[in-house]
Order: sequence, then C-alpha cells, then structure tokens
Amino acid sequence: MVSGLIQMAMDRREILGWLREERPEKLELLWREADDTRRRRVGDEVHLRGLIEISNRCIRECHYCGIRAGNRELRRYRMTEEEIMACVAQALAYGYGTVVMQSGEDEGITADWMAGIIRRIRRETPLAVTLSLGERSEADLKAWREAGADRYLLRFETSNPELYARIHPYHRRGEGRSRLEILRALAAMGYEIGSGVMVGIPGQTYDDLAADIALFREIDLDMIGVGPFIPHPATPLGSAAGTLAAPAGEQVPADELMTYKTIALARILCPDANIPSTTALATLNLAEGRELGLSRGANVVMPNLTPRRYRRLYEIYPAKGLPGPESAEQLVRLRRQLAALDRTIGSGAGDPPAYLGRSGAAPLRRVP
Ligand code: SF4
Repeated sequence: MVSGLIQMAMDRREILGWLREERPEKLELLWREADDTRRRRVGDEVHLRGLIEISNRCIRECHYCGIRAGNRELRRYRMTEEEIMACVAQALAYGYGTVVMQSGEDEGITADWMAGIIRRIRRETPLAVTLSLGERSEADLKAWREAGADRYLLRFETSNPELYARIHPYHRRGEGRSRLEILRALAAMGYEIGSGVMVGIPGQTYDDLAADIALFREIDLDMIGVGPFIPHPATPLGSAAGTLAAPAGEQVPADELMTYKTIALARILCPDANIPSTTALATLNLAEGRELGLSRGANVVMPNLTPRRYRRLYEIYPAKGLPGPESAEQLVRLRRQLAALDRTIGSGAGDPPAYLGRSGAAPLRRVP
C-alpha cells in the first residue's frame, strides 16, 4: 500500500518533478498511488458515457483542430433530432448512464432546438445529459440547464495565456469568451463542470503543464479530460508543429507516457473527479491505451455512438474514428477487459463525489 506517499497537497514544484520523472521504479509509485486513490474515492465502477457528435460545423479556427472552419475540404453535417434520438435509444439499450452531445461551435444549434432535445431525453429516459458545444452565450447555457442538462464540458486546453492566444487566434482578435469565466458561470448555474488540456501542444513547456494540473484543483473540476496533442495535417499546428516547439528540454512531449502522468497527477490532486480514459489515448495505443489509462487514475470510458456515416467527418485529429465499445459485441469485450482489471461497468449516471459534495449542487434528472 502506497497511499499517502504522494500528497494531494503537492505544489507546482512537486508536480513538475513528477512530469520530468523517467525512472520506471519511481513512476510505478505514481501509478499505484493514482490507482489506489481512484479506488478509495470513486470506486471500481467504470462509467460509460455514450458520445454523440451531433454536428461538425464550427465557426472557430482553433489551430489544432481538424474540423475548424478553415478546413474547406471537409463535408459538414448536423444531425437531425430523430437521428440523435436513435443514438440515445442505443445508449439506453447498451445500459449506459449518460449521453454526451458534442459539436463544433455551430450557430445553427439554436438554444430552443437544443433545449427541445434535452427535454425530450429527460422526459423519455433516465439518462444524464452532458453537453460539449463550445463557448456559448450565458443565455444559451442557462436555457439548456433549465431544460435539464446536467453537465458541460469545455477544455481550457492550456493555462498559459500567450500559448492559448497562439492556438486560438479568434481570442487574439478579441472574439470568444474566457473559458475559465464560462466554467465559473456553468458551476454557478448548477452544472457539473468538466475541463481539461492537451498534452504536448507545440510550445507547451513543463512549467505550463504543471500549472495546468494545479489549476484543475483550483477550479474544483467535476470531470477532467486529458489527451495527447495529435497533429492533423489540415491544421496550422499539424503542418508547422516542429517550428513552434519550446526550446529543447522544455517542450512537453505529446506522448502516451506524459498523458498517463497527467491523468495520474489529476487523480491524486482531484481525487473525487470523474476522469475519462480518452479516445486520443486509445488512438496512440490501440492495444492497451484505454486499459493503462484506467489503471492509472481514470474511471470513465466514452464509447462513440455517432452513426458511422458521420463519424469519419468528425475528425478532430487523424484516426479518431477507430472502433470502440459501441456495439454489443465490443461491449462484451470491454466487460472482459474490465474484469481483468478487477473493475465493473457502472450503473446509473455516475455523478462524481466532487459534484455531489458541493453545496447547492443537485442533479435535475429523475433517479432511475
Ligand atoms: S476545437 Fe472546437 S471550437 Fe475549436 S475549431 Fe475545433 S470544434 Fe471548433
């Protein structure tokens, strides 16, 4: 038992030390502490969230993203309400507790249209509803919360303002809202809030990543999503990644090991949060990326329920459309993998203790 050897109260200097740590025997301590913390605080259940990528339309130009507005080669789609509800029915049939509706920042997704779908899911199912629809106005976010949405995901990507502005050019032009401010507003509305970062953005230093991880704790996140930067050829960062890197020895590598370290540190610093083992991790290591994430602090998996004809059009980074546990057959395989890790598939919505312990927070959904 290693519990307590690595403290939740660790400071930025200690976080930095772990990010730079390379010795396998030391890293083994980090993995074991993260896994032990996960078991004690959020248990052995792995919660499945059915991901529905409802639209690949986006008005933004984030320099790392394959579906940015500037990618004129991409065919655009927006799912209909009936198509979305068919995916919701699939989530129910597979026994998932949550649907996550994600899109680019699509102005065609109006507050009313989305609120109608949320209300319908609330009326017809016991599923929790998570949204990830970009930097929307306070009025839209409020309308969706009132319609019954439980959670909102918005990654802040990096806490370094200069690096943030470099990869989000619209912020440099004074467009867009501060993501940290939006997260605070979402928490005040009673949403469970999720955020996270990309690991290994060209120009991201070890200091930057240590500050990001410290910020997870500071803003008291309910969900933390961490994935490696994977260059997409149709983006500015995909074609110029090498020229934008931080000086040698300072640039955070965009690799699997650094992502596991970030997940493990996030678990130790934010023990009550839900942390997914992300698709990006499984893309880097198809054979065991997901399992390694789950044994180093993660407790959530997000199977993709997007219809196949749309899925390949939601290519934020290359090879993202790889198959996951989104069919009955693959679900059986996932159950076997989890059993090998002494884990089980969670039942119900899987709200994190981080949210349930916050004063005034309460899920709007009826409890199944
Ligand atoms: S990251 Fe989100 S907001 Fe930025 S271009 Fe991609 S889909 Fe649009």
